[in-house]
Amino acid sequence: MSPRALVTRGDGSLAVERREPLVAGPGELVVRPATVGLCGTDLELVDGTVDPAYVRYPLVIGHEWTGVVTSSGDSAFSVGERVVVEGIVPCRRCRHCVAGETNLCDTYSELGFTFDGAAADEVLVRADLAHVVEPQVTNDDAALVEPASVVYHGLSRVVARPGLSCLVVGDGTIGLLAAQLLRLWSPARVVVSGRRPEQAELVRRAGADELVETTPRAAFDLVVEAAGTPASAADALAAACRGGSVLLLGLPPHGSTTAVAVDDLVNGDLLIRASFGYTSSAWASVVALLNAGRLRPGVLVTHRFGFEDQAEALEVLRSAPAGAARGKVVLERS
Ligand SMILES: [Zn+2]
Ligand SMILES: [Zn+2]
Repeated sequence: MSPRALVTRGDGSLAVERREPLVAGPGELVVRPATVGLCGTDLELVDGTVDPAYVRYPLVIGHEWTGVVTSSGDSAFSVGERVVVEGIVPCRRCRHCVAGETNLCDTYSELGFTFDGAAADEVLVRADLAHVVEPQVTNDDAALVEPASVVYHGLSRVVARPGLSCLVVGDGTIGLLAAQLLRLWSPARVVVSGRRPEQAELVRRAGADELVETTPRAAFDLVVEAAGTPASAADALAAACRGGSVLLLGLPPHGSTTAVAVDDLVNGDLLIRASFGYTSSAWASVVALLNAGRLRPGVLVTHRFGFEDQAEALEVLRSAPAGAARGKVVLERS
């Protein structure tokens, strides 16, 4: 049987299609995905609401994943090795790449966005972007390297010292990952603000101290915006104390705007940092933390679906089941 792939055309549909088997060219690997995480961005890709500059259809979705090498081409990898693969594909030549800012490469290209992703029986990747994960790392942990790298890249640019009081705005997966990763910098406390009390147990599992329903004002050294709405961005800016920092990680719908009191930002002497994707170096750091057993993002997985139950998985992503926690939703290929 030819390999399956979950394909969308950005018109609300996501269907299993049969594809030609993939062949590894020079410098390439063919990988058989095992676990593929889904996120809100996948929904937006399916619905066609992502900024058109960042997507190409028809598209196989799947940018949070891990799998096993099935064809190693001319690379040093062995068939059977389990890998995670950087999704942002840097040219390695432009001024950003040369400076290590591979997330800003002049030629934007990203697996699961501008070329076929990992929600498939096979995926073709560049060998120089693949990293081996140690056997003790679970597939759940490994599949979360992508969003964890997004969070790690952002945090590593704003956390200046230990002992900070931190607020994460948003109780979705990025918020929960932010709460977990903040622990790497020994904060004084980590509070998560979110609308769903059902998330309280997951928030604790992520290592946060408390879940609050209303975002406090002018109270935190570091605020991480991870809800991705214009209103939550305004809340995040208002929650930092004077001299504090605000990291914007959430991505509101394309073109949305919000009003902010600019004088408060200036009077507050705030550092405002927006962060896009991850660099190769952030990705490598997260893999090293995973392999060393210092990070267990897989504890945030709450929903698992078979590969061809994508419709059900999308439904859970679209609206969290009433009365139940929702962390990471994953597809498991069998
Ligand atoms: Zn994602
Ligand atoms: Zn580049």
